[in-house]
Amino acid sequence: MTRRCFKIKNIKVICTKCGKSYLADILQDRCDDCNEPLEVEMVKKGGIREGNLLKQNMLERYADFFPYFNTINDVSLREGFSPLLESEKLANEIGLGKLYLKNESSNPTWSFKDRGTVTGVLHAIKIGYKKIATVSSGNMAASVAAYGAKSGLKTYVFVSSQIPIEKINPIAIYNPTLVTVEGRYDLIQRQSLRLSNKYGIYMLNSDATFRVEGYKSLAFEICEQTNFDVPDYVLVPNSSGGHIRGIEKGFREFKECGLIKKVPKMVCVQAAGCSPVYNAFIAGADKVERIDKPNTLAHGIENALPLSGNQVLRMLKWNNGLCVSVTDEEIINAQATLAGTGLLLQPESAATLAAVKKLKKEKYFRGDEKVLCVLTGSGLKYTAAFERHELEQYTCKLDEMDSLLGSLQ
Ligand SMILES: [Zn+2]
Repeated sequence: MTRRCFKIKNIKVICTKCGKSYLADILQDRCDDCNEPLEVEMVKKGGIREGNLLKQNMLERYADFFPYFNTINDVSLREGFSPLLESEKLANEIGLGKLYLKNESSNPTWSFKDRGTVTGVLHAIKIGYKKIATVSSGNMAASVAAYGAKSGLKTYVFVSSQIPIEKINPIAIYNPTLVTVEGRYDLIQRQSLRLSNKYGIYMLNSDATFRVEGYKSLAFEICEQTNFDVPDYVLVPNSSGGHIRGIEKGFREFKECGLIKKVPKMVCVQAAGCSPVYNAFIAGADKVERIDKPNTLAHGIENALPLSGNQVLRMLKWNNGLCVSVTDEEIINAQATLAGTGLLLQPESAATLAAVKKLKKEKYFRGDEKVLCVLTGSGLKYTAAFERHELEQYTCKLDEMDSLLGSLQ
């Protein structure tokens, strides 16, 4: 295992809007002046570490890009290194050059969140926090609860009262202090930030500076898995905006270090029932506005006022990226399409494939593009979505099996 000195005092975090810099050895996720999210300064020199992939964790393999962590801290649950599938069948059906599916449901708590939770928890420990917390509609709550249990930190999880019970149980099993709060997700998130200073709790919310850092690893893996011939487009379902920001930063750092030639165009995917970033993007605005009545079955991206929404707009501008919104019906169809390839993903993940289909149908894609969908989490997290599908099932008695099977031939 690599042993390095912890150098967090030499690292700066920088405001994504005004450029004001702060020290990384305190908990500060937003700029004092403009209240926009902070970002760890870019890594401009580095490479991929040699080593046995079966024994490495992602922080060891990409250690040059996480210079502030001492990897002897055993917080990792071996997150990352998720499968990248290339679907020739879907690429042919939709009419694309290549279609890659990055399946994040193989992470320890079945979603992409683990990549950012491990880096966030490590930062919390390094700057002396004993308590962590998060506000989540499911995936992030389970992830923070699991890593809180692993690292022995007191862990608080705030969930919205609207989340289904099947999402609560996989959080409760890790035994955090679980609080159900009545109120909108974005408002609970903002209240939690206010309370973190008061109670000395490290808030590990969805666009926390050191959580976003962890998401860079997904980009690094894509580079390796495509033999550094990266896709033209990478589609990411968008809630707070931390995930897509982290992935884009990862590509940018690899390009800066000469490991890849280009940064893929990022595609921010939202549900039509809650699309504040899409609305602002289409209007050419530089600020997202709150959605009054968010309504989509993709609860994980039902975020009425994304904390990193403005920064996603700024990023899409320099990246030449775009924003797409898809209906619940399109999401359900795409979920069925993915299941048809053997993958059961949550509706939020399916939104990316729905967006690919839409971009092709609307002739944005010509047909020779290399496109990648980030499939964020397991479909088992929200089985209520199955009710929206037409599922073929039969019932019979034991002595009727023969005739039933005969009739189905
Ligand atoms: Zn600022």
